[in-house]
Amino acid sequence: PPLYTQRYQFIIDYVKTYRPKKVIDVGCAECRLLKKLKFHRNGIQLLVGVDINSVVLLKRMHTLAPLVSEYLQPSDGPLTIELYQGSVTEREPCTRGFDLVTCVELIEHLELVEVESFSEVVFGYMAPGAVIVSTPNAEFNPLLPGLRGFRNYDHKFEWTRAEFQTWAHGVCREYDYSVQFTGVGEAVGHWRDVGFCTQIGVFQRNFDGINQSMSNAESLEPSVYKLLYKVVY
Ligand code: SAM
Repeated sequence: PPLYTQRYQFIIDYVKTYRPKKVIDVGCAECRLLKKLKFHRNGIQLLVGVDINSVVLLKRMHTLAPLVSEYLQPSDGPLTIELYQGSVTEREPCTRGFDLVTCVELIEHLELVEVESFSEVVFGYMAPGAVIVSTPNAEFNPLLPGLRGFRNYDHKFEWTRAEFQTWAHGVCREYDYSVQFTGVGEAVGHWRDVGFCTQIGVFQRNFDGINQSMSNAESLEPSVYKLLYKVVY
């Protein structure tokens, strides 16, 4: 299967095992992962997508609408889906209290200073139970035919495994998470040691859930995201 399918499947498998109730996909683009998670719910109750680009969000958000059959045969209990236009480098009160944040092929589109804000916002402020981050493994690039430079014109960097792991370990130290590394897309034969085509970090929060009842100051923080779509099943 194509690489993006393998990335989504990795997350579906994770959800099947750990059964998070509230999942937020940052940089969700055309909501492909959300659509799959809606199908493989495994007990998810709240599914949120965020992207900075409202054009890509609007393009296919109708694919998240319930099918007539889903009204006739309600499954699995209530499900709410929300899509927001916003940047994951900004603090948004409604993004706190999630069990899982997925971040598939997003960070390499950020400038390195924005990666700093991303880390602070996602791990420090949103502080979810778990975070899954995927990004290209630069060491795999020589195996990609005809590739010169980065895999996409909009990539600001592509990290080696060591670079990704240095960032991830730094985040864990600062925000009290643990991380394990894996990936999808394997090379064969003696090329195996370049690692996966897509590298993935799975982060788990080491401390108990953040207190849901926010302090006064925090509950007064204004919303910065723009709600574009909401459906309740
Ligand atoms: N996660 C999707 C997937 O795997 O198919 C899309 C990945 S796409 C390569 C990267 C997405 O990140 C784009 O849709 C882009 O608009 C979004 N993005 C870039 N910077 C962002 C930011 N600061 N906040 C939220 N989304 C952002």
